[in-house]
Amino acid sequence: MQPTPSPQSLVPIPSFDVIVIGSGIGGLVTATQLAAKGAKVLVLERYLIPGGSAGYFERQGYKFDVGASMIFGFGDRGTTNLLKRALETVNVSLETIPDSVQIHYHLPDNFDLKVDRVYHKFLQNLTAKFPHEKEGIRRFYDECWKVFNCLNRMDLLSLEEPRYLLRSFFQHPLACLGLAKYLPQNAGDVARRYIKDPELLQFIDIECYCWSVVPADMTPMINAGMVFSDRHYGGVNYPKGGVGQIAQKLVEGLEKAGGEIHYQARVTKIIQENQRAVGVQLANGKIYLGKRIVSNATRWDTFENLLPAEEIPINEKKWQQRYKKSPSFLSLHMGVKNSVLLGTECHHILLSDWEKMGDAEGTIFVSIPTLLDPDLAPTGYGIIHAFTPHWIADWQKLSASEYEAKKEEAAWGIIDRLEKIFPGIEAGLDYLEVGTPRSHRRFLGRVDGTYGPIPRRKLRGLLGMPFNRTDIPGLYCVGDSSFPGQGLNAVAFSGFACAHRIAVDLGLD
Ligand SMILES: Cc1cc2nc3c(=O)[nH]c(=O)nc-3n(C[C@H](O)[C@H](O)[C@H](O)COP(=O)(O)OP(=O)(O)OC[C@H]3O[C@@H](n4cnc5c(N)ncnc54)[C@H](O)[C@@H]3O)c2cc1C
Repeated sequence: MQPTPSPQSLVPIPSFDVIVIGSGIGGLVTATQLAAKGAKVLVLERYLIPGGSAGYFERQGYKFDVGASMIFGFGDRGTTNLLKRALETVNVSLETIPDSVQIHYHLPDNFDLKVDRVYHKFLQNLTAKFPHEKEGIRRFYDECWKVFNCLNRMDLLSLEEPRYLLRSFFQHPLACLGLAKYLPQNAGDVARRYIKDPELLQFIDIECYCWSVVPADMTPMINAGMVFSDRHYGGVNYPKGGVGQIAQKLVEGLEKAGGEIHYQARVTKIIQENQRAVGVQLANGKIYLGKRIVSNATRWDTFENLLPAEEIPINEKKWQQRYKKSPSFLSLHMGVKNSVLLGTECHHILLSDWEKMGDAEGTIFVSIPTLLDPDLAPTGYGIIHAFTPHWIADWQKLSASEYEAKKEEAAWGIIDRLEKIFPGIEAGLDYLEVGTPRSHRRFLGRVDGTYGPIPRRKLRGLLGMPFNRTDIPGLYCVGDSSFPGQGLNAVAFSGFACAHRIAVDLGLD
């Protein structure tokens, strides 16, 4: 047997400019941006395919998205269409299908509302429910547009790069000042400035919760401005062939640009020399050296598993004091007869008790991607992905039979609730696969299967989210536990920023 070489015995010349641990969208955008600038890039992915939470799996003729399916970032105007731009950088593209409604809300007391792609129609529909708040509704959502318009004017790159900041300030002084003003604010505070009706404020809460998994008071205004405006500007657009196509295309572009990706390559250790990150070691003992190391694993996984947990840097400790892991999800991937899906929308949110919004099984999220791309299912059938928050602690310490029984019980409870909006779903069910927080942890490689970081208490907007550089020289983090947080377009932003900072550090920019 070959002995595993110690880092000291390795040739001192790094073989790669940049090694990226993980091929989530954050990791792939970093990798492709750098490869396009001429860097020699290696991506190491522990799983069989790229994409992480934006991956897919196939069963009996169905192609299921593992997570994300409400996709921003494919608009054809402005600068915030980062997924489209990321693909373009490496000369690949994707056909997308526009969704005319972002979400159909089914809320307590028969509060039913569709968020139309057309802004004034959305305002009209919401105002019809709260005519006494007409002015407040308009002023709150218009303020979201102010945030978006600032963002959408400039190239979204690294806020850790002083020359870029200076250049942006001289080119767009008002937009920069606007963003600086909104950076420490939360959406709830802005909403309460204009809106008084408690039910409408609860609506703003679920508007935030459905992507930030915290209420409006804890949701940064920058993120709210992006989501609440871009859904009417670039819109929500579904990639033809499924969400997994985004990662597949980025990999195609990466390879065209000279980069490499290795699958089933689980990194177990980030190698340091003189307190600097210089390489990685895989589970099979293989070692790769790079001038810069990027981790697309969560910050918890990076600093507690890939590096010695007892040496966690002070800034990471502080971050963990500000942010905790959000719950994971219980996911039902269903194949159903199309007759169940007639006349419905692609995305739904179900909530029957405002008090339970943040509880396990309180809010149910539903995606039906086959309404936009029927080719994801066998003829005559469609896909429903229903998911709801769940904590891993509730799925631990169970025997195999207890685990299966718990899955079964939870799944049928959710299906019962779905009958209300999809009558006949149980009878029309053709395929069911249930994923628990344990499945999310196992297949997505995310600690506790978490969806990402959420504030432990009310913070000052986005000010507490870390950028890409870390306290360890040579090591960068990218993805949803870095600025600006969860969501595919958000992690693409993180990828652009990370690549920009590294390119400057390597003298490529
Ligand atoms: C159920 C669900 C629904 C969602 N819905 C939406 C939605 O509708 N719209 C939206 O925009 N976002 C949605 N999201 C969020 C979005 O999917 C994530 O925020 C985003 O995909 C995270 O990307 P990332 O780059 O941070 O990395 P991840 O997707 O976490 O990918 C990280 C990658 O790194 C790999 N990896 C980890 N550790 C190692 C290691 N040690 N060695 C090698 N490889 C490693 C993993 O296998 C994985 O491939 C959803 C998420 C979930 C779970």
